[in-house]
Amino acid sequence: MKDGAKPILALQQWINDHRDEMVQDLSDYISQETPSDDKNLLIKGLDWTERWLGLRLGTPAARRLVDGGEHGDTVVLDYPSPTLGAAPWATALCHYDTVWEAGTLAEWPVSVDGDSLTGPGAFDMKAGLVQLVWALKACDALGAPRPHVRLVLNGDEELGSPSSRPVIEEEARRGAAVLVFEASADGALKTARKGVGIFRVEAQGEAVHAGLDPESGASAIDEISRVVLKLHGASDLAAGTSINVGILHGGTRTNVKADKAVAHVDVRVSSDEEARRVDRVFATLRAENPLAAIAFSGGWNRPVMQRTEKTAAMFARAAEVASALNLDLKEASVGGASDGNFAAALGLPVLDGLGAVGAGAHARNEWISITGMLQRAALAAGLLTRLTE
Ligand SMILES: [Zn+2]
Repeated sequence: MKDGAKPILALQQWINDHRDEMVQDLSDYISQETPSDDKNLLIKGLDWTERWLGLRLGTPAARRLVDGGEHGDTVVLDYPSPTLGAAPWATALCHYDTVWEAGTLAEWPVSVDGDSLTGPGAFDMKAGLVQLVWALKACDALGAPRPHVRLVLNGDEELGSPSSRPVIEEEARRGAAVLVFEASADGALKTARKGVGIFRVEAQGEAVHAGLDPESGASAIDEISRVVLKLHGASDLAAGTSINVGILHGGTRTNVKADKAVAHVDVRVSSDEEARRVDRVFATLRAENPLAAIAFSGGWNRPVMQRTEKTAAMFARAAEVASALNLDLKEASVGGASDGNFAAALGLPVLDGLGAVGAGAHARNEWISITGMLQRAALAAGLLTRLTE
């Protein structure tokens, strides 16, 4: 065994000794329903979460609450290192909202079957916060050095973080590194994520009787059909760009030329260059019939998260910690975006996917591995220690 492995294994042992409390914490946390679109439940859920954090980590050195308006509030909590005065700051991102509507728990309560635990929001991403909390506790209980940690808890991530984005950017900028406890990709950390654009294209036609007057008017459906083909044709999978018209509406009756048709579009890109190319595709959409018109709205929700050298270096440290824990840690580039995208766009090193091992984000059977939860908490604790070097 390498000398460096000993303190990491001690952290792991301490975490393993607290397995039952971690499982209980996660079960209790999931039992607080926090749908992204239910402000009252979000307030209740955040209140519970802060009280639980107080129990586990003590009173934070600083607390800032940012009103989310109609969306969930964001709270920023500081947990300075008790051992290192001059430690760097790391920003940890955890969202407490889930995609599950109120009442889901009644039909789908938390349950444990062997090594797997299931419940709404278990994988995305309630287990992630539990892992971070116990990683911090392990470091502090054993006197292991760690950075000062600034925890950002937001309640609108599943909506694209409309109100928390500026808070995330501001807090991320104040730190040296960003750790995102979103779920892993089959155990792999996420060092690159695609950028996501959400667009809406509207075709305006002119309604006339399609049978009596076929030569006049303009069909919005005719126009939007060409738009759909043009957009799908602009996908470039080799370059990492996919464009999908996922919803299409238009027309009123079979015998009327449609005066309106709307396409809703999801775009994913792997580079800023591709984002600009896609922008140009939208900007040059034109109606073919002079009586019709095409307009688009929307834009980029999350910028591309590139695998920078700084991020790669932080992954290398995590991989060393993993090997001390006898884990084979991989990294992945994924199509889904997270709040890590915002931080990465600021040029900060970002390690994402530090959260749960399991599967089924946004799916009715999402689950996490309890062994995985313990291992990842140990990984996070070891990584925190390494980040002070
Ligand atoms: Zn998530």
